[in-house]
Amino acid sequence: MFPVEKIRADFPILQRKVNGKPLVYFDNAATSQTPKVVIDAIVNYYSNYNANIHRGVHTLSQEATDLYEQARITLQKHFNAKHAYEIIFTSGTTHSINVVASGFSSMLKKGDEIIVSALEHHSNIVPWQMLCEKTGAELKVIPMNEKGSLVMSEYDKLLSENTKLVFCNHISNALGTINPIEEIIKKAHQVGAAVLIDGAQSTPHMKVDFQDLDVDFYVTSAHKICGPTGVGLLYGKQEWLEKLPPYQGGGEMIDTVTFEKTTYAGLPHKFEAGTPNICGGIAFGVAIDYMNTIGFDAIGIYEQELLAYGTQELLKIDGVRIYGTAYKTSVISFNVAEIHPYDIGSILDKLGIAVRTGHHCAQPIMEFYKIPGTVRASFAFYNTKEEIDVFIKGLQKTIMMLG
Ligand SMILES: *Cc1c(COP(=O)(O)O)cnc(C)c1O
Repeated sequence: MFPVEKIRADFPILQRKVNGKPLVYFDNAATSQTPKVVIDAIVNYYSNYNANIHRGVHTLSQEATDLYEQARITLQKHFNAKHAYEIIFTSGTTHSINVVASGFSSMLKKGDEIIVSALEHHSNIVPWQMLCEKTGAELKVIPMNEKGSLVMSEYDKLLSENTKLVFCNHISNALGTINPIEEIIKKAHQVGAAVLIDGAQSTPHMKVDFQDLDVDFYVTSAHKICGPTGVGLLYGKQEWLEKLPPYQGGGEMIDTVTFEKTTYAGLPHKFEAGTPNICGGIAFGVAIDYMNTIGFDAIGIYEQELLAYGTQELLKIDGVRIYGTAYKTSVISFNVAEIHPYDIGSILDKLGIAVRTGHHCAQPIMEFYKIPGTVRASFAFYNTKEEIDVFIKGLQKTIMMLG
């Protein structure tokens, strides 16, 4: 049995009430909650180690540097990167994607093509559009079908020797669809294109192995994996990170500086200009260690149970339509008859239930289904079937009030 009650005790926020009701937090795809070990790591850092890293000869600076570099190694091991310096700390997924997009702007020309999927988050569409405007490269889109899966036969047709980059999320944040990234990566490599995978929705639910995937770039945010906001990761294969120009100029990313010429520092510092989120990086490592003590296999199995139960109970309600029925993680995106998702979300909040409503930063998907948005309930390993029951009862009450 999955020890969910024991796990829940690790998360102080799960004890609180919202509008007088026990909190039911089903907005995990937007951000996950923070276990006490991570909160303690943050307090411990500022209580005992706070110093700037890499520069100081003094003890605090050296200890802070050690903790930060240890966190990098924790991430390297967890994701099976070949080298620790292939793990770049960023402020999050959005930042990581922009580092790659901006780097490629000097490597693309007119006639080149970039392929993205129809299931992307806005943060994975806009940087590529900007890149195309700048370079004259063309953006192509792998279409989706009614089930919320990518149409892979169309992907085959889009690929050519003009393809320079392919970008896809591992798992869609709006629908939860798990994309066949192994196939996407393999086929992109056959035409010599690089692949960036947005793993903001996969890394909280499964163990990801960068070398096994043979992926060129992979990005995620700590706050989706029980870590703090404002820190994330950019993984790149060494050969790609060496090819990419730095994103920002500043302290920490240089080797030597004169007014005539600056030479850049080696990896990973080339991409880590300025004082980083030191505490955040350390806490990110602690969050990954915490998740590993529970185990990603156990997490995945338990979350699939929640998904199956939630889906079954939701479909008992008249007028419910679920969007995205492909192979997926614990995300249920749905609408009830003609009721506006926002109205459902507002009343559920009065009952202490947190869900997401709207387009989930994925307007192209909403356009496909011809809807303004959905209600999205996304479960984490600390949620329970009892909470799903509370949510279903709350939803029935909401429908009665609005219907
Ligand atoms: C949350 C999310 C992002 C954006 O992450 P930030 O931490 O806001 O930069 C990008 N892609 C997907 C799939 C996400 O779920």
